[in-house]
Amino acid sequence: MNIVLLGGPGAGKGTQAVKLKEHYYIPHISTGEVLRGARTAGTELGKKAAEYMDAGKLLPDDIIIGIIGEKLDMPEMNNGFLFDGFPRTIPQAEGLDEMLNSKGESLDAVISIEVPDEIATDRLLKRAEIECRSDDNRKTIENRLKVYYEQTEPLKKYYKDCGLLKSVNGIGTVDEIFERIKVFLD
Ligand code: ADP
Repeated sequence: MNIVLLGGPGAGKGTQAVKLKEHYYIPHISTGEVLRGARTAGTELGKKAAEYMDAGKLLPDDIIIGIIGEKLDMPEMNNGFLFDGFPRTIPQAEGLDEMLNSKGESLDAVISIEVPDEIATDRLLKRAEIECRSDDNRKTIENRLKVYYEQTEPLKKYYKDCGLLKSVNGIGTVDEIFERIKVFLD
């Protein structure tokens, strides 16, 4: 199963990704996690990522596509994968299609988790109190939402046109939402 999780900031992609990975035993790649890891490690990528992330902006497509390309070459990715936070722009989606095509593979499903902006913002501000992520503050959240509508939301049409998109209501408990996704995938 090759799956992409779509959704705005605070939609719960990361939370559902962990549950899906445990249930279906497929590797989970979160670009946000990869970038936060690079920041903590203090690599060149991490330094660059920090600037963009803290401004609520997206990193350049070529950097992100490069990271994903490396991951896709790993043997454990041969039995399916779950992407969370990638693709986030049309060029990234096109890049992914090309990389998969060249391996004779394709996506099986794109799940868009839908949550109203106010609820998403509340969740992120709550997370800010617990996790202390430098991009979970009101100003950066506003920008992340704006960037989502400008650059990521158009992916819903992109994937709808090829019959891959499934929208899932992201309001409810973690288990309720997981059940909605599972029913669809099964
Ligand atoms: P969220 O989904 O809560 O916005 P993520 O953890 O997925 O957060 O991503 C955090 C930040 O990392 C983004 O705001 C962006 O700066 C950067 N990022 C993550 N994935 C991508 C991507 N595919 N393309 C460009 N930038 C990305």
